Amino acid sequence: MAKKAIIIGSGFAGMSAATFMAKAGWKVTVLEKHTIPGGRARQLKEAGFIFDMGPSWYWMPDVFERYFNQFGKSVADYYTLERLDPSYRVYWKDGPMDIPADYNALKNLFDTIEPGSADQLDKFLSEAAYKYDVGINKLVHKPGQSITEFLDWDLIKGLLKLDVFNSMKSHVAKHFKNTKLRELMEFPILFLGALPEKTPALYSLMNHADIKGGTWYPKGGMYKIVEAMYQLAVELGVEFKFSQNVTDIAVYKNYAKKVVTETDGFEADIVIGGADYHHIESKLLLAENRSYSATYWEQRIMAPSCLIFYVGVNKKIPNILHHSLFFDSSFDVHGNEIYTTKQWPSDPLFYVSATSVTDSTVAPYGCENLFILIPVAAGLENDDEAIREKYFNVVVKRMEKHFGCSIKDSIVYKKNFAHREFINEYNSFKGNAYGLANTLMQTAILKPSCRSAKVNNLFYTGQLTVPGPGVPPSLISGEVVAKEVIKHFG
Ligand SMILES: Cc1cc2nc3c(=O)[nH]c(=O)nc-3n(C[C@H](O)[C@H](O)[C@H](O)COP(=O)(O)OP(=O)(O)OC[C@H]3O[C@@H](n4cnc5c(N)ncnc54)[C@H](O)[C@@H]3O)c2cc1C
Repeated sequence: MAKKAIIIGSGFAGMSAATFMAKAGWKVTVLEKHTIPGGRARQLKEAGFIFDMGPSWYWMPDVFERYFNQFGKSVADYYTLERLDPSYRVYWKDGPMDIPADYNALKNLFDTIEPGSADQLDKFLSEAAYKYDVGINKLVHKPGQSITEFLDWDLIKGLLKLDVFNSMKSHVAKHFKNTKLRELMEFPILFLGALPEKTPALYSLMNHADIKGGTWYPKGGMYKIVEAMYQLAVELGVEFKFSQNVTDIAVYKNYAKKVVTETDGFEADIVIGGADYHHIESKLLLAENRSYSATYWEQRIMAPSCLIFYVGVNKKIPNILHHSLFFDSSFDVHGNEIYTTKQWPSDPLFYVSATSVTDSTVAPYGCENLFILIPVAAGLENDDEAIREKYFNVVVKRMEKHFGCSIKDSIVYKKNFAHREFINEYNSFKGNAYGLANTLMQTAILKPSCRSAKVNNLFYTGQLTVPGPGVPPSLISGEVVAKEVIKHFG
């Protein structure tokens, strides 16, 4: 009889783990507290508008293709991808700048801002291509269980080129002098949840992903990826149980025997926790079965939380692009408010996604769906309606100024989402949005382990363990942990 794997959570990582376990012949059941799959990437449908609730940037298309290929499928079997051009627009204090998808056009743009910077970009990106190749094809697939995994001749040879001990900040500063160019090159690592000075320059691989890999859009929205993975999992025989809030993992003699929900119980040969790691450890296990102490968690550097607004407007906004970055205030000040002083931002940077610009199916005719995201520190107090409304007014005013049209008087739908919801809806530690920050001291074997130190058949996947935050890493995380399980339990 097939062995039973119980997976907690149907985010990207849980679903990825489920598909790999099912492919290996296990009987897989996924327990999800919500009524639909997707976790942080759920979909919100209200008043005729469709919003992706979390991720909106489709980067690293090769990682998605590789995922589906392992099941004899292709991305094209499930959804249609479109490359965005321009990739995105940046609003600086002195006006907008479009970032072209075409590399030569981008080089021309760089040279007009800082003569000679196009050559620097070539140099920067050829190093970044090497890091992407080693990082995405090798490093992220290590389960981080032992330092010996990294005793690989290619890795040792390339250690200097991988720039693990240099910071992104100094790496970018070595190549570019102009502040706009520096901020453009530092922007992709905001996805990794740490300041450029704290992020290893290895992560310039994200610039390769941005500029060479491109920014894509799955027609219908990011939720198409969730639907695709769900369909694949069901095709492979995975059973999904929704509205099943897990409350306990019953452990006997160092083995997880049963996963208990508010209404049911599920026997297990192995358990994979795809919900937030801290929640599983501290709420679903007795103290004696936890691998990490409360102090350990307090000392982790969390990636930011976000204050998000989902807004429907009953008109088209002139000239708006699919992705708009509002860098019309200070990067350094906002960065310090997120990571160092941990306070509500004084003058935030923010981001707007309007998928209705590219896709007529996600908003009523003649309307626009706006997803507005302000990164804020995890763990902030006094997250109340008044403070959310204050920031809403700030960002809408700046959007009206840069877009050159009124917005406030055209809003027909509005919902906000921040710390409180991250905690209530995802059991997120300190209301984090993207898990753990990718600092050097929280990389690879220094991340919370994907296997429990106390419960032999309990494993973890998702953005708080290897390899880290983001949709592509979550797909890889599920694969990595499934391989670990299969290595130990067949
Ligand atoms: C606002 C936002 C924007 C982002 N933007 C991008 C982007 O543009 N591009 C990108 O690549 N990445 C982006 N990310 C990051 C990316 O979305 C995440 O890294 C990824 O979705 C995490 O997947 P996961 O499976 O680890 O966790 P989750 O998606 O959180 O999945 C965990 C699941 O476990 C469930 N669960 C929790 N507790 C229980 C319980 N007790 N019982 C049962 N089920 C439980 C939850 O409901 C959830 O479904 C963004 C994230 C956010 C929040």
